[in-house]
Amino acid sequence: MRFSSGSQRILKSLPEDIVDFFSNDYLGLTRHSGIKSLVIRTLEQSEKFGSGGSRLVSGQSYFYENLEKELSQFYNSTCALLFNSGYHANIGIFSCIAQRKDYIIFDEYIHNSIYNGIRLGLSEKIKFRHNKLQELEEKLCRTKGIKYVVVESLYSMSGELAPLKEMVTICRKYPDTFLIVDEAHSGGIYGTKGEGRVVELGLENEVFARIHAFGKAFGCFGAAVIGSERLKSYLINFAPSFIYTTALPLAVLAHIQAAHRYLLQSFKERKLLWKVVEYFRTSIYREKLERYFSALEGPIQIFSLEREEQLCELEKFVREKGYGVKAILPPTVAKGKSCLRICLHSFNTYEQIDKLISLIKSQLK
Ligand code: PMP
Repeated sequence: MRFSSGSQRILKSLPEDIVDFFSNDYLGLTRHSGIKSLVIRTLEQSEKFGSGGSRLVSGQSYFYENLEKELSQFYNSTCALLFNSGYHANIGIFSCIAQRKDYIIFDEYIHNSIYNGIRLGLSEKIKFRHNKLQELEEKLCRTKGIKYVVVESLYSMSGELAPLKEMVTICRKYPDTFLIVDEAHSGGIYGTKGEGRVVELGLENEVFARIHAFGKAFGCFGAAVIGSERLKSYLINFAPSFIYTTALPLAVLAHIQAAHRYLLQSFKERKLLWKVVEYFRTSIYREKLERYFSALEGPIQIFSLEREEQLCELEKFVREKGYGVKAILPPTVAKGKSCLRICLHSFNTYEQIDKLISLIKSQLK
């Protein structure tokens, strides 16, 4: 079916010099020489650089311990627990947190890793329409017992923010309701140091757990669940994707540490990113293309056309000119929600944006 419709997934190596409007490297940290030097220095100082086993067997180290302390401070919380990736973190927490009589109430746009984690769990599962507060409240109203509400702060495939403040207000009205926020795409970008949306909005004490993945704005790899000491201890005991996997090697831990330390003292990249976003949005209006774009003020910009094939042709055309954008098709998004996902970065120049927009415009006639 995917082969006949042309939507099959294939791996393609792209030229190094392709203009990047598709990666999650929002701040350009995957190429940051200062961060690279810090990682190399840490590696040189240690004889052992592989972990040799899971954290509960031989993988635990003082480096892990100290890094988790640093992360809990960075994210203004009590505890952090590192996982090997955002996927591991979500599969881990969502497969074990809710018990048989509990409920998980989730936004329909949640990431596949959250969805698969929820599927592995035993609780009741209830979906609400994307960002629809009234529907969330209706679902909360109808359920008794412990409820976990699950959302992303910045949705990776639609570029929209969750109305977190309003969600907190609703959750507060219903006893035994716990909000869990995946901050994979907002970490590094929002908040004065890049602590994410929850900290930016001052909601640390209202949110039960946050998932931060470091493969996006932080430019590295791995993830952490941010929450209470009790939650950390629970996950160490019950999250299978934490327990039964080899611990991260020092290179990854050092990378996570270096990227966070760097963001503590550099605002440069974030400032540049927001300028790029502003320029992009202004350009869309200048070129009268606003009806094709969702009204988004963030680094993920969404361009839509009625016909899916036209989006694929546009992606191909833009790529051939040296510009990388990504067509997002079902099953990644629901049928009828296909789009071109344009990721903006601190390092994108105004000339690159002008060129990308003119390439897109040239194909719309
Ligand atoms: N959550 C969200 C919202 C994501 O977009 C992603 C990755 N695309 C993940 C979790 C998984 O993170 P990782 O890539 O670190 O496995």
